[in-house]
Amino acid sequence: MSKTLITNARVVLPDDILTTGVLIENGKITELGYTGKADEIIDAQGGYLFAGFVDAHVHGGGGADFMDCTVEAFDTAVKTHLQHGTTTLLPTAMSATREDLILFLKTFKEFKKSGVYAAVTPGVHMEGPYFSGANPKSSGAQPSTLLRLPDKDEIECLLTIADGDILRWDAAPELEGSDMFAHMMTESGILCSIAHSAATSEQAQTGIDNGFSHVTHFYNAVTTYRKEGQRVLAGVVEAAYLNPHVMVELICDGRHIPRDILRLALKIKGRGLVMAITDAMRIAGTDWTTGKLGSLKNGTDVIVDDKVAKLPDMTSFAGSIATMDRCLRVLCQDYGIPVSDASVMLSRTPATFLGIEETKGSIAVGKDADLVITDSNFQIKRVLLGGSTVHSV
Ligand SMILES: [Zn+2]
Repeated sequence: MSKTLITNARVVLPDDILTTGVLIENGKITELGYTGKADEIIDAQGGYLFAGFVDAHVHGGGGADFMDCTVEAFDTAVKTHLQHGTTTLLPTAMSATREDLILFLKTFKEFKKSGVYAAVTPGVHMEGPYFSGANPKSSGAQPSTLLRLPDKDEIECLLTIADGDILRWDAAPELEGSDMFAHMMTESGILCSIAHSAATSEQAQTGIDNGFSHVTHFYNAVTTYRKEGQRVLAGVVEAAYLNPHVMVELICDGRHIPRDILRLALKIKGRGLVMAITDAMRIAGTDWTTGKLGSLKNGTDVIVDDKVAKLPDMTSFAGSIATMDRCLRVLCQDYGIPVSDASVMLSRTPATFLGIEETKGSIAVGKDADLVITDSNFQIKRVLLGGSTVHSV
């Protein structure tokens, strides 16, 4: 069996950073602290060694969106994020017609059979279409004309076509039928997440009681404290804080979430329940200054300004263009989060969320050798997938 040894690396573990050799055999990490002979030696030159990043919410990259619904688009987007250190990701579907969602699910099956980077994607994420279009603040960039109430027949149809590929599905818990949706998700073993919601904290709590266990892009397109006429209301954010098992995800591009919101979420929930996502659109990993959010056919025009996509009139954000290595730099360099904590948020917590922590999400003996080497400034130097180098600079 051939041996690959990574030397001269600061190995980032959940509770420590060790300068030690990491041995890889047959695609797995087999020893920490190895000093013997190896067939291949990778010198990390004093940089960091991270567990590969796990992005549980991403729409595209490299110019492609998963809703383009071609195997080539899937390969392009996955390869782009892989080059930025993401070794596991869930392709995310936007709210769309039933026909387009069926096409997305069928394309994913095709990609799993023939895509070059199929090993990176354990399943897919459905962001919608069961959201409310009544409140533009919560519908955000989701196409408001395609939003609808949970539909049992449609859900059954999509679950049948997906045949186990859907790992998470987002909906708004205040909608009629959301209890049925939550029960169908929990029965099917699908993670059920609150997103694009105008719920009061009471409505969110009912959703949590019915099986919603996660909040999508926390603080973005979900409710928090507000006054409506003579009434004061709490929202989804407070319900998430009040339920200790509920996990949250934050877009860590340095634009969608201010530093002190991130620190507050970490303080209340802890790094084991706060995960980093990109929620990236197709412009991520390109130098484009304009592009389309969503499909090329029906998408919304956006411009890039200050490292984030915005509507052309600059009135609001229209999506993230981040990659996970940028999230790492934001967390460690701009927000002052300890390197081990940032690593947990980028890898172990999302791996736990997806139920793949036995093999992914941290550097430990027996786990897959999905690894990222960076320099001291957290710039990517090399990415390994199952022990093989898939990108180096
Ligand atoms: Zn999204």
